[in-house]
Amino acid sequence: MELNLPSSKDKVLFTPGPLTTSLSVKQAMLRDAGSWHFEFNALVLEIREKLLRIAGLSREKGYEAILMQGTGTFGVESVIGSIVPSDGKILILSNGAYGARMLQMAGHLKIHSEAFHSAEDQTPDLDRLRQVLQADSSITHVAAVHCETTTGILNPVHEIGAVVREAGRIYIVDAMSSFGAIPIDFERAGIHYLISSANKCLEGVPGFSFVLCLRSALMSSEGHARSLSLDLLGQLRGFEKNKQFRYTPPTHSILAFDQALAEFFQEGGVEARGARYAANHRVLLEGMFRLGFRSYLPPSVQSYIITSFIFPTDERFQFPEFYRRLSDRGYIIYPGKISQADTFRIGSIGRVFESDMRDLTHAIADVLHDMEITL
Ligand SMILES: *Cc1c(COP(=O)(O)O)cnc(C)c1O
Repeated sequence: MELNLPSSKDKVLFTPGPLTTSLSVKQAMLRDAGSWHFEFNALVLEIREKLLRIAGLSREKGYEAILMQGTGTFGVESVIGSIVPSDGKILILSNGAYGARMLQMAGHLKIHSEAFHSAEDQTPDLDRLRQVLQADSSITHVAAVHCETTTGILNPVHEIGAVVREAGRIYIVDAMSSFGAIPIDFERAGIHYLISSANKCLEGVPGFSFVLCLRSALMSSEGHARSLSLDLLGQLRGFEKNKQFRYTPPTHSILAFDQALAEFFQEGGVEARGARYAANHRVLLEGMFRLGFRSYLPPSVQSYIITSFIFPTDERFQFPEFYRRLSDRGYIIYPGKISQADTFRIGSIGRVFESDMRDLTHAIADVLHDMEITL
């Protein structure tokens, strides 16, 4: 595998993370930072405060931002494994792979759980959710995925939150692929815990995830953690004790993230980033529809984060070949993950612009022509 230096041109990633980052974000990593050093620790504190600010929250309002080493999955597992008591039960709303992964986590951690399934192209039925919560008082926690990256479907986290709040349960949202680009009103949605990661819409590099949570909720989870390294309250206590990660910090990804946040605010925050991604998505759809592709989801539930396209029926279409030819031209797309349909996915997030989306659809047109595929 050929790895390019940051000064040369990398292939453009149309993936849901890790994604294309700016040259300046990559360059911010060309330093070594001591994990005990006061400057680094001050930076970590600053980043935690900026994350709260992006969410419209603050310490004064009773919220905390906790960074957790590892990928997004580690962050989700740290929440689920740290807050559900041994006599508690978590209801997991699932209409894709990330909901399914939370169920798998609960299984591994031997946490009592129940699945609330919806079809992959449908958002959860809120009346049915209300009934399930009313009928089962043993459910203490409810978890949902905001943008289910499996398909690109956008689940109504505020409306789900209203039902959860009415039922008086703790609400967890996996906002991995939406935070920073799709507005989330924490208080209106009644979110107790939200998880996202450095390398999605905030356009940092992989290395850590973060959890935004209501401090009082986390404090009452004392003693529930099933893991030492993923103990969420333990991690917060570590930061509060000496401003440090408990174990080796992802120093380079923190440096990159600091730069990514500067660029995020410079761009205009959640609204501007969301607008850029929405424009990317629009250009992508126009180009793909013009070529004759169909998207998997109905437009009413489709997010502007990532889009699933249905395979052409022409038997000359072979995804690995299609993928390789696009890669040769400098464009990296993503395979599908849906169980009921053959699809591939194209993300609209990361340091990509309308012109990149246009270039991609032109490259797709060329590849279809070369492969003699008709749509
Ligand atoms: C990316 C993503 C995750 C985490 O995936 P990792 O590969 O562990 O970073 C979790 N949930 C959603 C919705 C995601 O898009």
